[in-house]
Amino acid sequence: MLNPFENIKIPPKTEDLIKIVLDRIPKIGGKNVKEREIKRILFYKEQLQKYRDFVLQFPRIDQLHPFYRENIEIIADIDKVKMCLGAINRGVQLSFNIIERYRRLIKSSDEKEANRLMRQCFGRVSSILRSRKDCIDWLIDITSQLKKLKAIDPNLPTIIIAGPPNVGKSTLVSKISSAKPEVASYPFTTKEIHVGHIDTGIVKIQVIDTPGILDRPMSERNSIELKAINAIKNLNGIILFLFDVSNSSIYSAKEQLDLYKEVKSIKSVVIPVLNKIDDKNEELYKQIKENILEKVFEISAEKNIGLDTLLNYVINLLQNGQILDKRDIYLNSG
Ligand code: GDP
Repeated sequence: MLNPFENIKIPPKTEDLIKIVLDRIPKIGGKNVKEREIKRILFYKEQLQKYRDFVLQFPRIDQLHPFYRENIEIIADIDKVKMCLGAINRGVQLSFNIIERYRRLIKSSDEKEANRLMRQCFGRVSSILRSRKDCIDWLIDITSQLKKLKAIDPNLPTIIIAGPPNVGKSTLVSKISSAKPEVASYPFTTKEIHVGHIDTGIVKIQVIDTPGILDRPMSERNSIELKAINAIKNLNGIILFLFDVSNSSIYSAKEQLDLYKEVKSIKSVVIPVLNKIDDKNEELYKQIKENILEKVFEISAEKNIGLDTLLNYVINLLQNGQILDKRDIYLNSG
């Protein structure tokens, strides 16, 4: 399974669930009054099982891959998630106990009392649910967002393509991927991330661009974006940092170099790549190249120049280097 949240069945929110029960109760009949009222409260129990299943399906947070844990932190407080899971679980158990008690009471009651007892049971269970409404509805929203993260697999070696906007990141993802990249959403940004794959025959490599994440100075970031960077850090792989050396570049050499330095502080392997070499601006090219000490690759993502050399180098690193050997496989779910 790719995303540990993907298969969680999202239950109805608190008031919706209560409404389902309310709408259904008048339609439930029985051979006699007592049987009818018991069937009615058991229908409530059946609906509550949706919350129990929701809690059971939720992955064990302590066993999650750090990439997913960080992603929960982007949108939620992990302690609150744990607290709410516990609160929902206890609420369901309490409701089950109440329903069982009322089932026995109705069974041994006078026929005239049965309907009143059913209504009393309905009221008690509903108020237990309503007292946990904040937790239930909040966790449902969080889980719905986490389900969307499905295209990124933290267990695959990954090429992360960073660089300022418009330097050719998504063009490069599509050029080096075997099939058309998937479009994934990321919890904090409305921008879409492209996720492609390269199958070398030995290993499957994932390629992602990072719009809205690794594309501007740290000083401009809010805490949520910093958490997103932490999540990216936990992906197992290397960063290709793209520079735009073309005449149409909207960023100066200094701006691009400053960002490059910041990205280098995020992950140990960052490979500098000069893109748009087909439309080279000599001055920009010179200023950038002079200021990079590492091995530099020169490509044109759009015109397919230098891509094979770059790709062979990167695949070699990922296949044979320490990066793959250091890989920790985490359990996706509990
Ligand atoms: P991103 O914002 O970094 O993902 O950039 P895009 O991949 O969307 O590319 C931005 C623009 O640069 C698009 O108009 C591309 O066609 C263009 N572009 C990308 N790679 C190259 C290249 O190698 N050479 C030239 N001349 N243009 C390119």
